[in-house]
Amino acid sequence: MTFLTLQNIDVKNRRVLVRVDYNVPLDEKGNIADDSRIKASLKTLHYLIEKNAKIILISHLGRPQEIVEKLKMDKVAIRLSELLGRQVKKFDDCIGPDIEDYTHHMKPGEIVLLENLRFHPEEEQNDHEFAQELSKLGDFFVMDAFGTMHRANASTEAVMKHIPSVAGLLVQKELEIMGTALNNPERPFAVVLGGSKVSDKIGVIKNLAEKTDNLLIGGGMMFTFIKAKGFEIGKSLLEEDRLEFTSEMLKNPKIVLPIDVAVADKFDKNADKLVVKIGQIPKEWTGMDIGRETILKYKEVLKNAKTIIWNGPLGVYEFEKFEEGTREIAEFIAGLDAKKIAGGGDTAAAIEKFGLTEKFTHVSTGGGATLEFFEGKKLPAVKALEESYERFKNKINIFKMVILHQLEG
Ligand code: AMP
Repeated sequence: MTFLTLQNIDVKNRRVLVRVDYNVPLDEKGNIADDSRIKASLKTLHYLIEKNAKIILISHLGRPQEIVEKLKMDKVAIRLSELLGRQVKKFDDCIGPDIEDYTHHMKPGEIVLLENLRFHPEEEQNDHEFAQELSKLGDFFVMDAFGTMHRANASTEAVMKHIPSVAGLLVQKELEIMGTALNNPERPFAVVLGGSKVSDKIGVIKNLAEKTDNLLIGGGMMFTFIKAKGFEIGKSLLEEDRLEFTSEMLKNPKIVLPIDVAVADKFDKNADKLVVKIGQIPKEWTGMDIGRETILKYKEVLKNAKTIIWNGPLGVYEFEKFEEGTREIAEFIAGLDAKKIAGGGDTAAAIEKFGLTEKFTHVSTGGGATLEFFEGKKLPAVKALEESYERFKNKINIFKMVILHQLEG
């Protein structure tokens, strides 16, 4: 994997077009409910300010197909201004001659934020003309939106064909930490997989089962494994069409299944709860969480691990009664002296809920992108960065070469 990062190029007085991930959650009133994604971009922005770059930020927000008032970037610009302690000018579009003209007259260290990319359907169509219009706004392109790197959109793929492109500090950190954990882990290497469905994670299970020393299963997906083992699972989540896959995977001795589970008389936060052995799930009950003995068993496996990757809650952590497995395993991992990486939207939310984010080595910002990365796939935006490097390497002044060889599988 060879591409450039922000530190490889001289950005002084240059127009730097940065793809950030400001796809922040909004509440019913359209206010920002969680600004972590804006905060996550600050490292790259402070670096660019310090280097006297002219900074042009682009992002999508939500899933609009046309202009949607609530999904304009104005509130993001205000929040970013507060966090940076400096004014961030916001434009009402993200392409066009006026904006291009403005970028040529910006002062070093100045920051502007452009309008939601997805107000143009061309963004999701990976449209080359649109990408070319975007590319006119910078001398360099910086990819710093890890959570979008599995999509081939105009601002995550096509734009890089037109402009020398590098990885931003956030993306660099994310790729380095997760790449090393995946391909060159310090062992023992344990993986914890949960979440609702097996079908969402087939590729992840296959790839990680090969690389890891132990793969611990929890969450809704555990029941398709438990059923494949020959046990009845009551009304728990079952994906019949994945039984063949789970049976096949059970031949792999690295896969560790729960020995007991917490079940509920209905899928409800106030449901009655029982903890039973996996062979004793009552017919009318639903499996919600891993049980106490399983928690102890999983801790036993995890305690010596030097690298841990965790994706997917181990139970319905949104209901207090059934958060125990997720919480206890999260707290246990947090206290270990190991490289601890968590990824996926729900996993990150659970860790945040328990106040443990700071105790993890890395909590990945991307949902789908993280999953594809764990599947061992090359993300389209990574491919685009590599191609951009090949295309432009003789045309730009590269400070120092960094070959991220440890990321190769
Ligand atoms: P995912 O998006 O696939 O990572 O799944 C996360 C969701 O899985 C969370 O909303 C959890 O509530 C849910 N989940 C975890 N355990 C179970 C379970 N035993 N039954 C149903 N859903 C579950």
